[in-house]
Amino acid sequence: MSRKMLITAGPTHEPIDDVRYLANRSSGKLGMAIAEAAHSSGWDVTLLLGPVAAAPPAGVRTIRFESTADLESILAEHFPNCDVLVMAAAVADYRPESTGRGKLERSSGGLTLRLSATPDLVAGCARTRKPGQRIIGFALEEPEKLAARAAEKLRRKGLDALVANPLATMGDDRIAAELFLPDGQRIKPEGRRVSPDAPGPIDKIEFARWLVNWIDANLGS
Ligand code: C5P
Repeated sequence: MSRKMLITAGPTHEPIDDVRYLANRSSGKLGMAIAEAAHSSGWDVTLLLGPVAAAPPAGVRTIRFESTADLESILAEHFPNCDVLVMAAAVADYRPESTGRGKLERSSGGLTLRLSATPDLVAGCARTRKPGQRIIGFALEEPEKLAARAAEKLRRKGLDALVANPLATMGDDRIAAELFLPDGQRIKPEGRRVSPDAPGPIDKIEFARWLVNWIDANLGS
């Protein structure tokens, strides 16, 4: 029987009222590319996909979510049955403390929103995982803070690996990422560079294939 990979991708929309929401610029491209690569490599893939316009990869079982709350309840159902979780979704860090009903009226006095922190979903999965379940997280940061924050998030969230990538990755077709491991190793993906001499970004589809190969070789059993 194929092993099960659960992949989350895309942004969350956090409702302000029935019409408006807070969101981020995640395109979901990388998570969808990982889902496609894992499917081709023989994994039994379930993709949890946020509100993006792009169609999910053909043949991959896909469940849609909108908000952090939706994703939290879908993970509660599906995480216990997977072997590997790849948490590529750009989950909101904050959401409106309360959601208005209908459509809030415009007021010339302005509107103040109170935001509260969302639960850290991937850290919650790590706390409740069964022996053998593996978790890969992501960190999107400003380049000068990337290494320190990636190492800190990997440890604090209790992950098996973390893909660290700079802000420029968001919405782009390319990615300049490194894989951080708990023992302090940092692995640079192999792939066709934009220029063969440049250490710069590689195509997200190539990165996804490289990451799935790495998972197959290192977290595969
Ligand atoms: O802390 P930060 O948002 O940068 O962490 C990124 C990682 O944590 C990603 O893997 C993301 O999917 C996950 N995350 C989460 N729940 C949140 C915020 C982020 O699972 N509320």
